Amino acid sequence: MFTQKWGDAYYSHDIGPDADSNSARHWIENLERYQPDLKQRVQRTVDQWNLIVRDQLRNETALRLNIESKSNHTENKNIQIPIKVVDGLPEPLIDILRRYSEQAPILLNEKSFADTASGLDIAIEQFSALQTLCPSPISQSDLGNVTGWFQQILEQLKQIDLKQRLRNLDQDILGAYFLNSPRVEIYWVAIGIYAQLYSISIEGLCLVVLAHELAHAYTHRGKDIDGTTWETKDFGNADLGIVEGLAQFYTKTVCEKLAARFPAALEAYQALLQTQSPIYTEHEQWIEYHPQIEQHLKEAVRFSMIQCRSEGIVRYDEFMRVLHDVGNFPFSR
Ligand SMILES: [Zn+2]
Repeated sequence: MFTQKWGDAYYSHDIGPDADSNSARHWIENLERYQPDLKQRVQRTVDQWNLIVRDQLRNETALRLNIESKSNHTENKNIQIPIKVVDGLPEPLIDILRRYSEQAPILLNEKSFADTASGLDIAIEQFSALQTLCPSPISQSDLGNVTGWFQQILEQLKQIDLKQRLRNLDQDILGAYFLNSPRVEIYWVAIGIYAQLYSISIEGLCLVVLAHELAHAYTHRGKDIDGTTWETKDFGNADLGIVEGLAQFYTKTVCEKLAARFPAALEAYQALLQTQSPIYTEHEQWIEYHPQIEQHLKEAVRFSMIQCRSEGIVRYDEFMRVLHDVGNFPFSR
């Protein structure tokens, strides 16, 4: 289970996104038609929450990304993992989307069609009142025919297997942490497509992606109290279950911590989970090892992550054994 290496993904091989192929341009143009200020909204969210998310991750992991400069200038903090909002679609995502290019405008508007069908149902129910408000030669049965057509359209859209193909993806596609450079890229087009397809808040989804990719950066390059990090070779060779599990665990923690200020982030995290492959939901099982007190789970995960880094653990079953065993003795900070 989960024996695929994290380092097999496109972000290990430094493969950039596709913004120029016909398929990519077609999806981007359609998306911009329905969400004209999408890129600016994503950029604004990244700018606004970047340092706040880093603070949360530093608190939760007790790892530090910043290089302490001798002069201790605060502006030197957080410079070594740059974040960029980038055009285009990452390879695994465009590989799927190009098969559905012709249907892009319809697929992107499923929610609007569903809303239209609901609105027509209400119009039929309130037909007399609406005729009084605004007389029209349209009959109630005309409206019934249109509603039936929209319902058939929605049924047909459910038969298209785009969402099932997306669910099978075991790589990050809304953003990416490039482990060798190192850097984080945020794909505003991918975020926009997911927001449209699954009716998720753009800003909320953007924060989830930001937290997830930065969590990769912290767990990989964040320094422990003795200055150690996760060897890049071990990090790349680690099973997906370990690396994605840790990133998802800390993403959820960040969203929970920020929920009072930014409730859309936790909602987006939960909505996105419903669309993802098991690799991104596996960490939800970890609670079974430490069900009594939330803080115990956090301590146990952190302990297991540090063990994983210091001992070069790459197999998910070994990681799980550490996580299990740490629950069998009381530990304190
Ligand atoms: Zn990830």
